[in-house]
Amino acid sequence: KLSKRLYTVANFIPSGAVLADIGSDHAYLPCFAAINGKVQKAIAGEVVEGPYQSAVKQVERTGLTSRIDVRKGDGLSVLRPSEATCVTIAGMGGGLIAKILEEGKSKLDQTERLILQPNVNANFIRTWLIENGWELIHEEILEEDLKIYEVLVAEKGDPLHPYNGKKQESAILFGPFLMEEKNEVFIKKWSHEKRHWESVAAQIAKGKTTDESTSRREEMETLITMASEV
Ligand code: SAM
Repeated sequence: KLSKRLYTVANFIPSGAVLADIGSDHAYLPCFAAINGKVQKAIAGEVVEGPYQSAVKQVERTGLTSRIDVRKGDGLSVLRPSEATCVTIAGMGGGLIAKILEEGKSKLDQTERLILQPNVNANFIRTWLIENGWELIHEEILEEDLKIYEVLVAEKGDPLHPYNGKKQESAILFGPFLMEEKNEVFIKKWSHEKRHWESVAAQIAKGKTTDESTSRREEMETLITMASEV
């Protein structure tokens, strides 16, 4: 059984896709997608030996060696050009996910959909998508085992479309769809972040005033204002 987090990612994989799951670890996601007939073929990419071996074993155990290739290597470098129609990258920070996309973007020519699941810093991914012609088409936020996760789904299109009529800086931070929906998990996450920023700002206010502390305090105040507005 897949975690709620990976199940949410799997839900967005188009039927018949050739899937590349990068940073696959146990390869649970591609195995699930293959067993459920969602994908014809999948590639599980892993850069670290231990997780790579776990992926190899899981694919053997589930009898999927003919449909899932496990490849060792950094990011999208394990793919041939135009190979994957859908790419999933889950369970990492948004900064790392954006870096993997940036370094491997030449491999994404035939990719129709990206499904990205950052644990933190989703804003880095939203910025990368805007700069690279990918349109965010859907977002989810969910809680599992007291952790909050976001899932971003993008296709090639008009990258600014979801930001129309919104303050771009805020929408990049909070997510253009998530800030509209404003579900319970979203409110929980950002109330928590806001309290954190307020305590940082209060700490700075107590200390010595320097150029650095002033700019850091202003930064916190901007974030607090943005959160209050949302
Ligand atoms: N995707 C799985 C999930 O969501 O449950 C595993 C997440 S695990 C926390 C992150 C995995 O990404 C680790 O196994 C790590 O070795 C791998 N990883 C990190 N950077 C990578 C890179 N540049 N290329 C491929 N794999 C990477």
